[in-house]
Amino acid sequence: MKTTVFTVQPGAFKSMEPETTATPGPVEIRLSTTESRNTKSLGIIRGEQKDTGLAEADVLVAAGRGIGSKENVALIEQLAALFPRSSVAGSRPVCDSGWLEYKKQVGLTGATVSPGLYVACGISGAMAHRVGMQGSGFIVAISTDPNAAIFNIADVCICEDLTTFIPLFMEECKRKKRGPLPEQSK
Ligand SMILES: Cc1cc2nc3c(=O)[nH]c(=O)nc-3n(C[C@H](O)[C@H](O)[C@H](O)COP(=O)(O)OP(=O)(O)OC[C@H]3O[C@@H](n4cnc5c(N)ncnc54)[C@H](O)[C@@H]3O)c2cc1C
Repeated sequence: MKTTVFTVQPGAFKSMEPETTATPGPVEIRLSTTESRNTKSLGIIRGEQKDTGLAEADVLVAAGRGIGSKENVALIEQLAALFPRSSVAGSRPVCDSGWLEYKKQVGLTGATVSPGLYVACGISGAMAHRVGMQGSGFIVAISTDPNAAIFNIADVCICEDLTTFIPLFMEECKRKKRGPLPEQSK
């Protein structure tokens, strides 16, 4: 007897158009688990959350030269890991330096991306980078340079050292997840 395993990749299909007349609310869709003579449902196993590819990611956290060293790629990866369906991207100097693989490069000579959220960390926003990411739904930029060109297209501009801002931001996210401390909830 031959066994066939059928898997579905999340994001493989375009989402349906929203129904503007219906009352919004959660809709639960249950898959039929009816067993037939030839098929048997083995259930749904969610894949481990790993780095999604650039094209499939809903959120891209991109590292620029401003991250300063290869060691700080870990900081960018930790920030990306806060979001489901996320991936780490980079500007060309980051890939040229070997801090990230070339398949992660966004821009003129890299990939063109359009995630829902693009977080540019230590990226100046040179034209050759912008052409690859300006179609993103929402852009957050972190740079120490208040005149960085990336701020001209960003929805949220954070003029701060990323090695200070990102750990603080992640700590705040963890705190929010844990809920208020007992003395704060009084
Ligand atoms: C033919 C050609 C093709 C190219 N193709 C591409 C391409 O595909 N993709 C691409 O990205 N580039 C490409 N480039 C290169 C491009 O022109 C820029 O040089 C490059 O995008 C700059 O990368 P960057 O923003 O990471 O670095 P920089 O321009 O050096 O910017 C670094 C930024 O980080 C900030 N910063 C520094 N320290 C910190 C800190 N501690 N915290 C926060 N911010 C900090 C700085 O103020 C600055 O704004 C191409 C160039 C050419 C000529």
